[in-house]
Amino acid sequence: MSSTWFDTHCHLHDEPSPYEVVKDACDNGVTRMVVVGTDFSSSLQVCEIVSNIKASAQKDRINLDGIWAAVGVHPHEAKGGIGDLSNFVRKTTADKPGVIVAVGECGLDYYYEHSPKKAQKDVFSSQIKLAQEFDLALVIHTRDAWEDTFLTLDHEGIPEKTVIHCFTGGVDELKECEKRGIYVSFSGIASFPKASELHEAVKTAKDRKFFIETDSPYLAPVPYRGKPNYPRYVASVGLAVASLRGVNEDDLAFATTKAAIDFFDVN
Ligand SMILES: [Zn+2]
Repeated sequence: MSSTWFDTHCHLHDEPSPYEVVKDACDNGVTRMVVVGTDFSSSLQVCEIVSNIKASAQKDRINLDGIWAAVGVHPHEAKGGIGDLSNFVRKTTADKPGVIVAVGECGLDYYYEHSPKKAQKDVFSSQIKLAQEFDLALVIHTRDAWEDTFLTLDHEGIPEKTVIHCFTGGVDELKECEKRGIYVSFSGIASFPKASELHEAVKTAKDRKFFIETDSPYLAPVPYRGKPNYPRYVASVGLAVASLRGVNEDDLAFATTKAAIDFFDVN
């Protein structure tokens, strides 16, 4: 029996049938996933999707080991604030324990700068505090903003369970993360032949300090590059990471799944 995969970051709220996507993932050995919101309304949707899928999976007895929600406001949406996110988290963690495991994705994106930098930093800070208040993991998106990302984290205090999702830095940025106890998650970009700085980081990342994700529907790994992405493709990301690290794919699946289970404190 081969190992199963954990997709630590996927988006399902724009899928016409999220349950079909999850069933397909389970049929292909991806039996755990964290579904991520990008603004207040999609975060509500994500929690509903997760609850509904759990119920259907139980009824249909599909081979799903677990599905959880991350709720947050992406830096692109920061200009709209975080809305009622704090009350929503308070209520959902009380009424439906085990659905929300993380705050995010949140962070800074100075590449697109769809929201002013000041708004991005404020909204990021509020979500760091939210993760701390509810003892949730923190899922960070950062692009062209390493310096301010670390400054903001250092200033607010880094939640114990913090991950840079879709890590695209090199060895230096990885070291800055490790120094702070921050985890990283590798996406399909690790399978792109020209991502040589990232490849070096993948090779040197410490065991149990990194995870594998799809960030679906974006960033499909080779050989699906340019096409829509799905959680089932996380195995292709894993294959790329395993071959860069010179390890067996099954061992990598086992180790990264275990690391993610411990990180999100789920089973
Ligand atoms: Zn994402």
